[in-house]
Amino acid sequence: RAKAEGRGTHRFYESGMGAEVRGRRLMEHELRTAVARGEMSLVYQPQLAVATGTIVGFEALLRWNRPAHGFVSPALFIPVAEETGTILQIGDWVLRTACAEAAGWRVPLRVAVNVSAVQLHAPGFADSVEAVLAETGIDPRRLELEVTETALIRDITRALAALTRLKQLGVKIAMDDFGTGYSSLSNLRAFPFDRIKIDGSFVQSVDANQQASAIVRAILELGRGLDLAILAEGVETKAELGFLGAELCDEVQGYLLGRPAPIETFAAATRGEAADLGTLAA
Ligand code: C2E
Ligand code: MG
Ligand code: MG
Ligand code: MG
Repeated sequence: RAKAEGRGTHRFYESGMGAEVRGRRLMEHELRTAVARGEMSLVYQPQLAVATGTIVGFEALLRWNRPAHGFVSPALFIPVAEETGTILQIGDWVLRTACAEAAGWRVPLRVAVNVSAVQLHAPGFADSVEAVLAETGIDPRRLELEVTETALIRDITRALAALTRLKQLGVKIAMDDFGTGYSSLSNLRAFPFDRIKIDGSFVQSVDANQQASAIVRAILELGRGLDLAILAEGVETKAELGFLGAELCDEVQGYLLGRPAPIETFAAATRGEAADLGTLAA
């Protein structure tokens, strides 16, 4: 098949290559053209303010409809795209698409976009964000970039420079998957974060698990002390939501409140006919 595709086609079948390596090469190859072929799309998951029960924003989550495979999890293909650098092109598409879609919402809700370490450390990342903001015309304060701790530690100086510039543009920065990476506390002090996202693994059974509840309480206290908003991810049950509300967590996100879905699913919210926690959780 590689031969039939003609000259210039990357040869990903080599004799003697293991099946696993071949599979990986094939994925790398297909990822290079996935955006151009229209195989990438975004789904959105609502983020709600606990105090009011209203949707305050959406996280954009990438979906790849891979030929002959169907939808492949970003957890599987993002690491491959990072290793080959394809993430730069894909990440640019994600940012541009999320901002363009958000520009069309009647209500100026927040749009949160995940940014990979490779993007954050690429020269010109802040410039490319600035260009997308200018092109789409969205208020920079509506854009929130989600970065993980692991993404920061590659080159702290460079990551800090990029995030500082983005902050100056008015863009918000969230620390994603908080509690699962390295040296969280020094990172919190060194980087200009607006929000901490508590990883879903701490939120799961937080109402019933003593260790989880101790960790979540400590993160909430940390957020209050450092003047950072806190969002709890992966909220799946009413009991978890009840605990987070009682502990004054600012925002929540999870299957209980809404599964990631095409933005049309949430048309009532983007048009301003906001659904509340009660109707969403029902
Ligand atoms: P993340 O940014 O921490 O996103 C949260 C993940 O948890 C999403 O998985 C979401 O669908 C899932 N989730 C949401 N609510 C619940 C819940 O109540 N229970 C459980 N069990 N899971 C829940 P998804 O969409 O498969 O994305 C996985 C990861 O892939 C993301 O984790 C993020 O790190 C990465 N990712 C997704 N989209 C992008 C993107 O556009 N760019 C980059 N660089 N990474 C992305
Ligand atoms: Mg995220
Ligand atoms: Mg997360
Ligand atoms: Mg994650």
